Amino acid sequence: MAKKKPPGHYCRICGCRKPNEKFSGKGHAGHICKECYSLPQEKKNELQYINRIDRIAEKYPRSREDWEYLEKCAKNKKYPEAAEFAQMILGMSGRGVNEPIEKGCENDGDIYDYADIDNLPVFSEKKKFAGLDDDEKKWLRDYIRSEIIEHWEHSNVCPNENELVEIRKRMTGIFEEECHIILKNDATLRKFFQDNVTSAMNKLQKKTEVSVKNS
Ligand SMILES: [Zn+2]
Repeated sequence: MAKKKPPGHYCRICGCRKPNEKFSGKGHAGHICKECYSLPQEKKNELQYINRIDRIAEKYPRSREDWEYLEKCAKNKKYPEAAEFAQMILGMSGRGVNEPIEKGCENDGDIYDYADIDNLPVFSEKKKFAGLDDDEKKWLRDYIRSEIIEHWEHSNVCPNENELVEIRKRMTGIFEEECHIILKNDATLRKFFQDNVTSAMNKLQKKTEVSVKNS
């Protein structure tokens, strides 16, 4: 898994990692690639669900929230592609969908309230860095790396103190949006952040030296 990643971002809609030039303006800040940015909102929503289901599919163990999310998606008629995907993941894990979709058509009023996942409350969880799982830590590591690389390509210098604080804030903001975890800004997180910044910078500097030597 320790493959070298090209510089760029994960698009939070399609989940692909793309180089910086595939992001622009507003989409860049929100980490949405140009292609996805121009899609209709419906499609964007659906892709975002599929992308999250995809991440849950690779996750082990899955949390209660993950299972709930899969079940909710599996029943969501508004996004049939996402529903089908979630049903498949549930099926592969030996968990069926509790309620068949058709049941919602019975005239039982609000009993079968198939929640519109757009309107579900997003329950962000507060966590310390030490309590994150490997995937979540990897997410942060990748994020830091891509920010540093981007900064470097843009200006060829290390980000200064203030810029680093900005990057860290942006990281926790996007992390909350994507993973629904509010990260506590404690010493462990700050150390992790600093270590990854340093290692990303070292790699970039080494790369630059090599290319200077070779030219
Ligand atoms: Zn995209």
